[in-house]
Amino acid sequence: MTSFTLHGIPVSRGIAIGRAHILAPAALDVQHYLIADDQVEAEVARLQCAITAVHAELQTIWNELPQDAPAELGAFIDVHALILSDPMISEMPLDIIRSRYYNAEWALVTQIEELSSQFEEIEDAYLRERKADIQQVGERVLKALTGSANFLPKVDGNEGSASMIVVAHDISPADMLQFRDRAFSGFITDVGGQNSHTAIVARSLDIPATVGVSNASTLIEQGDWLIIDGDAGVVVVDPTSVVLDQYREKQARQIRERKKLGKLKKMPSVTLDGTAITLLANIEFPDDCAHAMDAGAHGIGLFRSEFLFMGRTGHAHKLPTEDEQFESYKKAVVAMKGRPVTIRTLDIGADKPMDFAEQTALNPALGLRAIRFCLSEPQMFMTQLRAILRASAFGPIKLLIPMLAHAFEIDQTLAMIAQAKAQLREEKIKFDPVLPIGAMIEIPAAALTLPLFIKRLDFLSIGTNDLIQYTLAIDRVDHEVAHLYNPLHPAVLYLLSTTIAIAAKAGVEISVCGEMAGDTQMTRLLLGMGLREFSMHPSQLLAVKNEILNSDLNVLTPATRKISRLYEPKAINEAVEQLRLL
Ligand code: PEP
Ligand code: MG
Repeated sequence: MTSFTLHGIPVSRGIAIGRAHILAPAALDVQHYLIADDQVEAEVARLQCAITAVHAELQTIWNELPQDAPAELGAFIDVHALILSDPMISEMPLDIIRSRYYNAEWALVTQIEELSSQFEEIEDAYLRERKADIQQVGERVLKALTGSANFLPKVDGNEGSASMIVVAHDISPADMLQFRDRAFSGFITDVGGQNSHTAIVARSLDIPATVGVSNASTLIEQGDWLIIDGDAGVVVVDPTSVVLDQYREKQARQIRERKKLGKLKKMPSVTLDGTAITLLANIEFPDDCAHAMDAGAHGIGLFRSEFLFMGRTGHAHKLPTEDEQFESYKKAVVAMKGRPVTIRTLDIGADKPMDFAEQTALNPALGLRAIRFCLSEPQMFMTQLRAILRASAFGPIKLLIPMLAHAFEIDQTLAMIAQAKAQLREEKIKFDPVLPIGAMIEIPAAALTLPLFIKRLDFLSIGTNDLIQYTLAIDRVDHEVAHLYNPLHPAVLYLLSTTIAIAAKAGVEISVCGEMAGDTQMTRLLLGMGLREFSMHPSQLLAVKNEILNSDLNVLTPATRKISRLYEPKAINEAVEQLRLL
């Protein structure tokens, strides 16, 4: 095979070299082609084989159900086996192959779609929902047909395992969870944007990744040798030995540079002029606190609690219970040994859907996500608030609310927190009565009406990922508009600098916890705007600290003021580059 190169969006730095492990498509998105007369029976046999394989697979899952598995799980598998045996699935697609000459995948998907639309018209809500079961069975057969495994093989840290690179059409943040306990060295997807949550998780795992590589999952074959250059967003398929050597050398250089940064761990984070800068960590799970401590973080600036609510298929409870959440929050607080832990309340929706809730919003990024969802589900929200408050008896916790835009949302949230406190008081359960409450500033409307927030809350944290998405009206997960995602757009810089300045003037603590905070190219700009608190992935912390140690605010502050008067992109880019040379 000849070597070729693919281009995408770089989302997580570093070089990865390894063999491709292709993940099956998650959706019913397949190739469509017509087959010749003499291929019909072979195609029919291929589909029959896949159906038989899925029967066997379901049987194995049934046999291996743990003793304490909820009864519904067995019933659920039975339903799938019944659907699979129904002639509508086991025979109709074969007829489609014979009569229309469709390839097996196309025939199967045609029939599933036909059945799904019939189910949509059923009045009985329970039966209507069985549509999802039919689609899941269809997906299983498709996976058997394409021969690609949906799950990553478990690996035990032997030599070969570390060189596995995952290639997929898309990976949901929930699917990324399974990567946490599997060794692999990089990932590539056909779709996705710079600040999609999938990309954010890749960065937190600290593995090279490139997304938005159009057709990667069809062009790359199982077992192909791959190089990911996560800095440039380049993927080299079946590299020549010369190219391989060049990248190995680059990889070794990067490892040496990282080692050098390791020496900064114990150094205080102060600028050349002596200003102390707080460096906090973003985490998804309590176990990530170990990385945060290791990197020398002053605390947790963003605990994305929604990850506790994802990947729960197979759990007895769809949502984590109050006790389950309490244990997780307590674990984080204890692990941080007295350093503050900022827990953000559930930010579900948009590109972080719940496993069990079907995404029906017409425009999920503008829909019922984060605090909007929580306020519409008061019982669920109350459970989380109680769990967080209970954990606050074990160490310093700060409560952070995502996606606020309206005064009444803040007031309703504060009223619910007061109610949770009153309940705990009555039950004689301990909590921190003065636990600080803060808001994410991530909707332009919030950035433009800061006095509403400052009056009601104790601290603010700018979520630049969403602030950029909503200011520039581009979906952060859509690779077709990824080129428009620009942290240096003058409108973004205006909102950032005014928000930091107004908060500082009011004496309200303010941080940035979006991806900009961990981007070393932005460190000096943010320092110059007056930012003194940065929250980022632990893996970025030392590189940002290195920038801070070499920055002089007496020089940066006036230079940054000049940038805020610029509008032309070229002039802004040049001025930001200049900051890095000061
Ligand atoms: C942000 O929007 O910048 C942020 C930190 O939150 P998330 O990326 O989880 O939406
Ligand atoms: Mg956000």
